[in-house]
Amino acid sequence: MKVAVFSSKSYDEEHLTKANANAELELTFFVPQLTAQTVALSNGFDIVCCFVNDVIDNTVAKALKENGVQLVAMRCAGFNNVDLDACEKHDLPVARVPEYSPNAVAEHAVALILDLNRNIHRAFSRVRENDYSLSGLMGFDLFGKTVACVGGGRIGQSFIRIMKGFGCRVLCYDPMPSDALKETGAELVPLEQVWAESDIISLHCPLVRSTYHIINSNSLSQMKPGVMLINTSRGGLIDTPAIITALKSARVGYLGLDVYEEEANLFFEDYSDQVLQDDIFARLTTFKNVVITGHQAFFTHEALQAIAEVTLANIHHYNKGELDKMCLVKA
Ligand code: NAD
Repeated sequence: MKVAVFSSKSYDEEHLTKANANAELELTFFVPQLTAQTVALSNGFDIVCCFVNDVIDNTVAKALKENGVQLVAMRCAGFNNVDLDACEKHDLPVARVPEYSPNAVAEHAVALILDLNRNIHRAFSRVRENDYSLSGLMGFDLFGKTVACVGGGRIGQSFIRIMKGFGCRVLCYDPMPSDALKETGAELVPLEQVWAESDIISLHCPLVRSTYHIINSNSLSQMKPGVMLINTSRGGLIDTPAIITALKSARVGYLGLDVYEEEANLFFEDYSDQVLQDDIFARLTTFKNVVITGHQAFFTHEALQAIAEVTLANIHHYNKGELDKMCLVKA
């Protein structure tokens, strides 16, 4: 089977090649994202392997099918960039990697919390400048604070366990709480209680219609002044102009982001010799109490290995007609 790997980086090539050690699949690595402009590259391939910012809309799904592609194998958990209805219409199954290392993402969310709280990013710069003053660097004890997790799936549960280890009171909002979530000991509460009582709120829900801009001017107005918000899930969960307003008024005291609504043309690339064109993102980077990483929460050795193995397992199952063993995404 011939597989076209889009948005390919050196680390994708390394891990997918290793997982394909027996060379059963013919992997071709393409640096460009899959979009309507690049879909022609898929001609002659059986499968496309895609990542978070590839665009699989109706135009692309139709072109993929016309090019002979039979399967979209996502090498990530989220699939908000895939038009599932269009894929179904064009008879193009979509597989994904539902779980690779929930701990990787949860631990990154905690890294952002600790960095923001103790001003590690500012201290790092000061020490390099020979400045050892402490003013402006004061943090707070996490012990005893109320921390909320919005979305108590695999990553949320890992996050809850870590925060309980710090001695925090942990709340969780999830409309479909699983038994595994209940066993974490988090208090399952309505969203209004999350907004009203939390010192720290971390988003771990998927980006779907009901969660789009779940952080908006209305929800922000219900939060404790100075709340810390962490988003390692998807950029579209936050209305960015609304959060900039809330940062300016100090309603939001700290913001940690690993994802950004308009990240598709920004993250995963080196633009260090260019002028930043996104004025909203540029404004975000000016706040001392905002820390942004470029969608790296998943980026651990363990996660990349698991992603490669599950992606190829999905493809092998498809090849053998074992659809029931695949992690398929339904419209
Ligand atoms: P999961 O499917 O295990 O859990 C998602 C949970 O969200 C489920 O328990 C579900 O019931 C809940 N949920 C659904 N609708 C909700 C709503 N309206 N409000 C609150 N909760 C809701 O997914 P996961 O593996 O824990 O991943 C969560 C998200 O993390 C993914 O959707 C993806 O967007 C993001 N993610 C980010 C990275 C990264 O590198 N930054 C990596 C992997 C995943």
